[in-house]
Parts: sequence; C-alpha cells; structure tokens
Amino acid sequence: MISVKEAKSIIQKHIPQLGTETVSLNKVGNRVLAQDITAKFPMPRFDNSAMDGFAVRASDTKGASQMNPVTLKMVSVSSAGSPSDVTVGLGECAQCMTGGKLPDGADAVVMVENTSGFSVRGSVRVFLETHRGKHVRKIGEEIQEGEVLIPNGTRITPGEIGTLATFGYGEVSVIKKPKLAIFGTGDELIEPGNKLMHGQIYNSNLYMFAELAERVGADVIIRNVIKDDRESLRSFLSEALKSCDVVVSSGGVSMGRFDYVREVFMELGVREHFWKVAQKPGKPMFFGTDETTLIFGLPGNPVSSYIGFMEWVWPVLETMMGIPEQKFLTGILKESFPREKVKYRFLFGKAWMEAGTIMCKSSAKTGSHMLSSSLEANCILISENGDSPLQPGEEIRINILPWKTIG
Ligand code: AMP
Ligand code: MG
Repeated sequence: MISVKEAKSIIQKHIPQLGTETVSLNKVGNRVLAQDITAKFPMPRFDNSAMDGFAVRASDTKGASQMNPVTLKMVSVSSAGSPSDVTVGLGECAQCMTGGKLPDGADAVVMVENTSGFSVRGSVRVFLETHRGKHVRKIGEEIQEGEVLIPNGTRITPGEIGTLATFGYGEVSVIKKPKLAIFGTGDELIEPGNKLMHGQIYNSNLYMFAELAERVGADVIIRNVIKDDRESLRSFLSEALKSCDVVVSSGGVSMGRFDYVREVFMELGVREHFWKVAQKPGKPMFFGTDETTLIFGLPGNPVSSYIGFMEWVWPVLETMMGIPEQKFLTGILKESFPREKVKYRFLFGKAWMEAGTIMCKSSAKTGSHMLSSSLEANCILISENGDSPLQPGEEIRINILPWKTIG
C-alpha cells in the first residue's frame, strides 16, 4: 500500500499531453483553447451610437431646454448595418439608431426622448444641451486591436463563445478530447429499466462515469458492463487499450475470489505502478500504463468509484487537456470529521459561507456503498491520516464539485 502523495506523484510522471485539432465555433463549448485569441480589430470597430436618437454637433445644442429648444435640420439616417456617409454640418443632425455609425461631423447623440422625434418635414427640435461624446461608443474604448482576449489553455464557456463570434472566429484550435473507455464489472449488475432478479443490483457506476466524462470534456468511445470472467474481461480490456488514452473500470480489483481485473490487465501487458492506496474509500485502487494508455481500476462500491473518479481520474484528464491544476480550498469544520490512522479520508460533504468563512461538514452517511451521501453534497472533504477525529473548528481541505457552488 502506498500513500496518496506517492500515488499522485507516480501518476504525474505518466500523463501525456494531447494534440490539438481545429473545431468549428458551434462545437467548441467546454473545449480547451490551444491558441491565444486576439482581437482582429478594435471594439467598437467605429464610433457608434449608444442610444436611439439624433447625432448632433454638441456645440449646436448650447442652451437648449424644454422651453427653449434648438431646431436642427435632419440630413441623414444612420442605423446599425446601414451607415450614413453624409457629413453633419453646422445646424444639422442625423437620425442615428443604437449601434449605427456616428456620421462624420457629429460628436454626440441626443436621446430621442429629449427631442421632438423624427419629422417628415426634416427638422428636429432638441430639448437638451449635450456635450461632446455623450451617448457615443468610441472606437477601441473596450478593446484595442491585437489585444489577447482569451489566453491559450482557457476552458470555453458561453462568454468565450460569444467573444470568439464577436471577433469573427469561425473555428479555433483546441486540445483534442481524451478518449476514454469506461467499464463496470460484476456478474450481479443489471441495467436500470430491467427487472432485478434475486441477488442482482443495478449498475450505477457506469452512468456516473459517463456523466463525469461528459462534464470534464472527455470522449467516451467504449462503454461496457463485463461479467466477472477472464475471457470477457480480456477481450473488452484489450480492445480499450488499443484505442483509448484512459481506461477507467469499476469493480473487480479487490481481494474477492472473482476479482480478475488487475490480473487481466497485467496479462495484457499493462505495467502496474501501484495497487492499493492508503485511502478510504477506495483502498484497492489499481493504476497502470501501457505505451499509450493510462489505466485506473477503481473499486466498485459506488462512493469509491465516484470519489475515485473525482480525485484521481478527473485531474488527470484535466492535465492531459492542458488545464492548470486547481487550487484547493480550506474550510472550517462545523462538526467532527472521522480521520483514519493510516489512510486519507474522503467524504462527501457540504460547504457554505458563514460570516465570510467557508464552513463545512461531512455527510453523516460514511459507508462506501452509500451513494445517497452524494445527493446533498457540494464537495468532497479530504483529511490526511491522523490518530483522532478532526474537531469542530479545525481546518479541512475541500474539493468543490465543479458543477456545484458553495452555499
Ligand atoms: P467490487 O469492487 O467488484 O468488489 O464491488 C464492490 C461493491 O460494489 C459490490 O457490492 C458490488 O456489487 C458493487 N458494485 C460494483 N460495480 C458496481 C456498479 N457498476 N454499480 C453499482 N454497484 C457496483
Ligand atoms: Mg465485483
């Protein structure tokens, strides 16, 4: 049995970097950028109106008020998409809609509400004195041409997608998705939706793995439930080793009479780096590699599989995709936390803010078979080994589940 720290450092040495590929804009959600995104032009691209109104020369509106309006001659219309090439001269104005190019000569916009509005006779009364630049969006005021907008390595979310579109990127270079094989093993497993016979249980782990893979941004290319027999294991696992970057299996790696997963991996030429880590849950965890594939054999109890994926597989997939390691948070325990003498302890938990401090507590359900401990959880709490439980008020490390918030 090796320590969590040793196990992490062994895994670190075997994580490959994935290549890149070009993907069209409507497919880039949740992908990781493999290029800096720069502004191809300034933003705004030209001086334009922030309001529906009239583009004027500010000096022409001097002294204008409700009682004493200034009358200007309307010489042109500029709307978004139809810029005017007329120059606004002394005593003139142009109707100008939001986003419309500010016509040459004009230097301010008066909101339509402060004028007599559009008139077919071609003159407009202005009821408000304005000043240069009012309601004008200046060229480059938001972004300069050439500026790095989104750095290489950024995970693409809606804001990034909108920004890529704004600057005309129809496609971008991103890191390839890790190719994943996920397996459930066990003679007892039945697919949800079918009737359970005596002694059978529903396969939950594979569904969790698939969802986790989707969320982290990996491509599940092989997904199977395998019986506890060497031949089936051999044929499925060897296929996965040929075509995947990472293989994750659940079950079959403990000390049971029918736990063949580890043996079969080794028969297939996988090099074992460790089996059994000083952690609870998930002690009999297997990690191996062959030339091109990382292999994680997670124990089958659902909490061991879920936490195992989050603590071991997820960060590896992120590193493969070039995402920097996440900083962990520290919280203050509201209730005691059951430490283990020689093992790290992972438990689902809840974290919330109290007077500016992150408070937390672990689920009262501590069994590795108790998947309902994940339902109220927004985090995994992690403690190093120790002789006695951590007490309320003591610090503990928190790993917030990426799709949850503190609260
Ligand atoms: P194992 O690691 O194969 O000894 O399995 C440990 C426990 O987890 C057993 O009670 C299994 O029935 C259960 N288990 C294994 N695989 C799954 C799965 N895919 N979904 C739900 N429970 C599982
Ligand atoms: Mg089993």
